[in-house]
Amino acid sequence: MKVFKFGGASVSNIERISRLPEILRSYPAEKLLVVISAMGKTTNALEKVVEAYYKGRQEEAFLLFRQVKETHLTMAKYLLVKNYLAAESRIRDFLTEIEWLLHDRPLREFDYYYDQVVCVGELLSTAIVSAYLNEMGIENKWVDVRDIIRTDDNFRDASIDWEHTQARVSSVIGPLFETADLVITQGFIGSTDENESTTLGREGSDYTAAVFANMLDAESQTIWKDVEGVMNADPKEFPDARLISELNYDEVIEMAYYGAQVIHPKTIKPLQNKGIPLYVKCFLDRSLPGTVIHNKSIKGLPPIIVLKMNQVLVKLHSRDFSFVGETHTAALYQLLASLKIKPNLIQSGAVTLQVCLDDKPDKIEKMALEAATIFNVQIEKGLTLLTIRHYLEETLQRLTTGKQVVLRQQSPETVQVLMK
Ligand code: ASP
Ligand code: MG
Repeated sequence: MKVFKFGGASVSNIERISRLPEILRSYPAEKLLVVISAMGKTTNALEKVVEAYYKGRQEEAFLLFRQVKETHLTMAKYLLVKNYLAAESRIRDFLTEIEWLLHDRPLREFDYYYDQVVCVGELLSTAIVSAYLNEMGIENKWVDVRDIIRTDDNFRDASIDWEHTQARVSSVIGPLFETADLVITQGFIGSTDENESTTLGREGSDYTAAVFANMLDAESQTIWKDVEGVMNADPKEFPDARLISELNYDEVIEMAYYGAQVIHPKTIKPLQNKGIPLYVKCFLDRSLPGTVIHNKSIKGLPPIIVLKMNQVLVKLHSRDFSFVGETHTAALYQLLASLKIKPNLIQSGAVTLQVCLDDKPDKIEKMALEAATIFNVQIEKGLTLLTIRHYLEETLQRLTTGKQVVLRQQSPETVQVLMK
C-alpha cells in the first residue's frame, strides 16, 4: 500500500488533471490511497466567500461563490462524458449545501463558517477527479473523508481524534481495498462528532495523507508537486535554489518549523512514528529523482534558507524596570497559549521580552491589550524573518546586505535575523 497526495497545483487545470492517469498507471498492481487538495487557488477563493458572507456582504459572497461553482462545473464538463451526469449531481449537492448556508445570517463564530464553506473545495476536486479516472478506465472508489477523519471542534485548526479515526480507517478503508486498488479522498478536511465539517489548517492535505499512511501501515507516502522536489530555498525568491535529494525527518521538521513552505509541519510525526519514507516528486516529469525523506542521518546539507514575510515584533518592557523573570515569561507564554498564537521567535533580555509573530491583526491587538496590563508594549510591523540552517557567514552577509537587522538569534546550526 502506498499513499499519494496531489496538491492543488497538480489538479489546477485540465492539462494537469489529464496527467494523473499516466502517473497512476505506472503503479500497476499496487494498492493506492490518493489524497487530493482543492483545485489551484480554490481554497483562497472560498476564503473570500466566507469573509464577504461573515461581514454581511451577502451579494458579494454569492457572486464569488458562483465563480467557484462555474469553474468546477466547466471543468467537469470538459473532462467527463459518460460520468458527467452522475458527477454533476454530486457536485451540485455540495454546492447547494453552501448556498443554503450563505442564505442565512451568521450566528456562530467565523471559524465555524470558514470550515463549512472552505471544505467544499476538496469535495469538488475529488468528485471530479474520481469520475474522470473512472471514465479513463482507472477504477477507483471515492470516499468522503469526513466519514473517516474525526476531529475536535477547534475549527480551522482541528485536531484529529486518533482512536476514532483509526477505527474508521480499519473498518471502512481497509475493506474497500479488498475490492478496489485505488481509493480517492480529500485532504485537509474532517468532521466533528456532530457532523460539522472542520479543517486541519492551510496546506493540511500533506498531513491527511500522512495520517492515512500511518494508519494503513503504508510502505511509503509520495507528495506530487509542480517542483522538482524539496529545494534549499524558495525558487521564486532565489533563482539559484537547488534540489536536496535526501533529507531526514528532523531536518524537515526544523525547516517547516521555521516556515519553509515545503511540507505541512504536522506531516512528519505520523510518518516518523512508523518509519515510513516520504517522497516528494514532480508530477510534470516522473523521471526526475525528487527528494526522499527518512530516518537516516545526513551530512553536508547546503544552507537552507527560509524567508517569512509580514512579521510583527512585539516588544514587552517590564513596567517598573523590574527584571524579566519567570513570572513575566510565564505570563507571556500563557497569553500566547490562550490566544493560540504561535511565536516565530522569542528573545529575552534584562527588562524586555521580544516576540516575533505572523501579522494577524486581530490576534496581535488582543495580545497587545492584555500584555499592556503587565508590560509597556511596542509593536513594529512589516518585518521579514530570515532563517538559515547550516549557515555560512557569506550566505548570511549576502542576504542581509542593505537591510536593517532588528533582532538576531543564533545557534551552531541555525541563524535567524529579523530585518526590515
Ligand atoms: N486546499 C487546502 C489549502 O490550499 C489544503 C491543501 O492544499 O493542502 O490550504
Ligand atoms: Mg495546496
